[in-house]
Amino acid sequence: MADVAFIGLGAMGLAMANNIVKGGYSVAGYDISAAAIERHAANGGLAASSAAEAASGSRVVVTMLPVGDDVRSVLFGPSGVVEGVSQGSLIIDMSTIHPFENDSIRNDLTAKGQRMVDAPVGRTSLQAKAGTLLIMAGGKAADIVEARPILECMGDLIIDCGGPGMGSRMKIINNLMTTVLNVLTAEVLTLTESIGLDRDLAIEVMSGTAAGQGHMTTTYPAKVLKDDLSPAFMIDLAKKDLGIAIKISEQSGVPLVLAREAESVYSDAQAEGRGAEDWTAIYAMLRDKYVA
Ligand code: NAD
Repeated sequence: MADVAFIGLGAMGLAMANNIVKGGYSVAGYDISAAAIERHAANGGLAASSAAEAASGSRVVVTMLPVGDDVRSVLFGPSGVVEGVSQGSLIIDMSTIHPFENDSIRNDLTAKGQRMVDAPVGRTSLQAKAGTLLIMAGGKAADIVEARPILECMGDLIIDCGGPGMGSRMKIINNLMTTVLNVLTAEVLTLTESIGLDRDLAIEVMSGTAAGQGHMTTTYPAKVLKDDLSPAFMIDLAKKDLGIAIKISEQSGVPLVLAREAESVYSDAQAEGRGAEDWTAIYAMLRDKYVA
């Protein structure tokens, strides 16, 4: 019997479970890797021989697993969590999984009388060790309040994302932004160096503009988020500059994959007669088409 069961003691989970131990809770850990369970025990955790055993008697069950199928099998499979967990315990899935899969798992748990919070994490294993993860929580407000003391052992920023499944949705949206920006950043810095610009200087310059600061916190609040599409910088001019960059990339033999896709979106905006609107009107165009 432990306060908390923790299933999935990998790069993230081992450190997260350790921080719950440091928070003063007893933590029964289970992983398919015996070595991972040993590491958890060395951290002061309790070793469990199955997910069901870890969950048995625990008030809170945390899962931190690679993919949705793993979460499903740990919860519903043989010797899984639902075999051991008590009625009234809270299950917190912190894995990054497809939000619709999260919804389906929640429905199946609800049918068995169990409560679930989805609470995937932002940042990396460095912050998992430091206990400074950003945690995106989805669930009934009262369940998130109940989960919060455990979540606070693992993170320094816990955000209630507004209902069941919303943490899981937020995580994927966040990672869409960061993973695509990663490629864009790599492409831009590669072109930077290939045309003889000093990389550090380029980073310094771009840190002073929306290039480095990001549109979401600079140009968007100033214009499109206020429904003001009068041009601070016109779509026509933005597309002209993008075209020059693409031309340079062709001349220097450094491919710009994302820039070409972006150029076609700017072309769509021009085709819709938005050329003289602010460049943030790209968002207005897409939102008008796809958000009910
Ligand atoms: P990991 O592969 O290091 O750890 C997963 C652990 O789950 C492993 O120890 C594995 O043995 C265990 N496991 C797998 N199937 C199991 C089962 N059926 N029963 C018990 N244990 C099982 O992965 P990670 O880096 O810790 O990531 C976990 C989740 O967190 C993923 O969904 C990942 O996308 C997400 N995430 C990772 C990071 C990161 O920086 N690594 C950051 C944010 C979110």
